[in-house]
Amino acid sequence: MSQFCASDALSSVDFISAKDVLAYHSAGIESVEDLLNRLPRRYEDRRRFDNFPTQAGSGPCCLRGTVIDTQVKRLGGRKQFYEAVIIESAEAAFATSKITCRWFNMPWMKNMLAAGHEVVLYGKPKEYQGGIIIDHPDFEIVGDDQDSVHLERIVPIYKGISGIAQRHQREHAYELLAGIDVASFAPVYNVDPSYPREEAMQEVHFPGSMEQAEAARRYFALEEFFALQLNVVWKRARHHEHEGRVLGKKTALLTEFYHSLPFDLTGAQKRSIKEVIADMRQPHPMSRLLQGDVGSGKTFVAMCAMLLAVDSGVQAALMAPTQILAEQHYLTFCQWLQPLGIRIALITGSRREDSHLELDGEAQIIIGTHALLYEGVEFNDLGLVVIDEQHKFGVGQRALLVRQGVMPDVLVMTATPIPRTLTLTLYGDLDVSILDERPAGRGEVVTALRKSPKVTDISKFLKEHLAEGRQAYLVYPLVEESDVLKAQSATVEYEKWVKRLSQYTVGLLHGKMPAEQKEQVMSSFRSGDLQVLVATTVIEVGVDVANANIMVIYNAERFGLAQLHQLRGRIGRGEFKSYCILATDGKSPDAMEKLQVLADTTDGFKIAEADLRLRGPGDLLGTAQSGLADLRFVEFLADTELIRQARALAEAVLEKDPMLAQSPDLLSLIEDGEFEI
Ligand code: ADP
Ligand code: MG
Repeated sequence: MSQFCASDALSSVDFISAKDVLAYHSAGIESVEDLLNRLPRRYEDRRRFDNFPTQAGSGPCCLRGTVIDTQVKRLGGRKQFYEAVIIESAEAAFATSKITCRWFNMPWMKNMLAAGHEVVLYGKPKEYQGGIIIDHPDFEIVGDDQDSVHLERIVPIYKGISGIAQRHQREHAYELLAGIDVASFAPVYNVDPSYPREEAMQEVHFPGSMEQAEAARRYFALEEFFALQLNVVWKRARHHEHEGRVLGKKTALLTEFYHSLPFDLTGAQKRSIKEVIADMRQPHPMSRLLQGDVGSGKTFVAMCAMLLAVDSGVQAALMAPTQILAEQHYLTFCQWLQPLGIRIALITGSRREDSHLELDGEAQIIIGTHALLYEGVEFNDLGLVVIDEQHKFGVGQRALLVRQGVMPDVLVMTATPIPRTLTLTLYGDLDVSILDERPAGRGEVVTALRKSPKVTDISKFLKEHLAEGRQAYLVYPLVEESDVLKAQSATVEYEKWVKRLSQYTVGLLHGKMPAEQKEQVMSSFRSGDLQVLVATTVIEVGVDVANANIMVIYNAERFGLAQLHQLRGRIGRGEFKSYCILATDGKSPDAMEKLQVLADTTDGFKIAEADLRLRGPGDLLGTAQSGLADLRFVEFLADTELIRQARALAEAVLEKDPMLAQSPDLLSLIEDGEFEI
């Protein structure tokens, strides 16, 4: 007999106490549907518990036992912790298997867990003073009348809600599922006709097997990604409807530029330029993503696009995420484009006037940082916007610049290669060009992984290459010594390197330095006056010194794969064979596996895929700006098949009904908002 509908308020459900309803409310959960839509964070198979561990394992385990002793202990100072000793079974009087659980700074624990309680524990065991301990395990006290919900089955574990016990959450979900009217689960759009949604709902909360749980999660993930793709495909269609201007008909400047180059463009560059030209000539605005590894020559593609714009009589702007990068671009653009008589301006926070004053006439190409957005820069008929390292900007910032023109063409560039599935999800509304070819004439890059290398070995290696006239980067993760991380810091290490490499000039670069000083250091390194640069990750983007062929990255385990790949891209830019040394303490097997990926390949796409596999998408996306932070099913982002399926479903729906006029429910899934890139 059905008792509830999905839309019923939790307060109308008799087995949820008023106190729990309040706690749910403060977590934003109001209705039966809200509660059931919160899918489990993970599952515990409580049909069979793990044996009590006798040594530290690699992963967490799920145990059942009885508390025999508890105590509040002190760790010196005012730090205290609560300790519970747990044995495997209450009946076994001589049980040898016991473990200790500890909770730090949670004084209330002593009111929650006492000798005699039977518990289910979940956590990662470690060895400590000859015994096994688990710090801060998830735990549940078992043994009341509801045990059929909590034991002898695969149980869901939900994200904690302050004020509601895990067991209550589980009981609520269980009871609601038992009493709900299944019609409530009718989908807005049925993504898998072979799998009734109410069944998926039941199985996602209380699966009969781990496989069933996975299949059910996949169902809801597909639903979620379908909604995402529907938005992406919709946005793309709406964007293509905008009137844009036809640019790029005149190619005189482009041809002149092309002939002035001392090298041939790579096949990938030529292909991308053709794609850009074709877009610019459309009467609709271009929105194209140019993806390519560091050093693949994106800047030259951007220059070509900007020359086309200039030739059509409009302004073109390039926005870079840091001042160093903006200046680097400015120099590059001046070097290649001033000979063609192009007027170029640099606008960054600190360098505005000088560059402006030099110009004789209105700038045709404007290069800058965020300052382009905020310092009252007046554009004169902005026709093309290029955004470099686009992932470093928020969506809002990019949109701000785009709005400076009347539906300008937009080219966004990224050196963070991302797997195709993510491109479809993150940039599904953009057209994509890929630079997958390294320009000719570059030296090989060798990467070596070293566990706590000796300073003398590194010094010797550095000196050999410095003696040949090369330059080197020494990268440290933090600016200042930190007690918490104990990582070597650039400022401290700099002093030491100055002494160790006394025959050579050593410079320091970090993010906290004033802009002029940074620029001074960079230009000394560029000119070769500085031979060694001790730096933090400020050198990650935009530093282009072909003569530098060595990079030592300390505490490499602290960096993400994508970041390490970016850093390494600073070397191997010239003809010399280059060496990247990843120095690490070697303590964490996970970190070693991660670093090994870099030692094995320099292919950015392969690295991105490994990153996605090893660490999940968080790192790749980097920020909340991606809009994927709210996804319930981030775990499925790497599932190519699922993403393609979602895309295909969305395309099919919109092909049949482009404005969703026949399906108001689907239309309600479309989030409004202006065109944003
Ligand atoms: P990216 O922006 O993709 O990191 P850049 O456009 O800055 O790469 O190019 C990296 C380096 O390669 C620059 O020094 C540039 O002069 C050089 N370069 C670019 N394209 C070519 C090419 N086709 N052949 C040789 N060198 C090139
Ligand atoms: Mg670049």
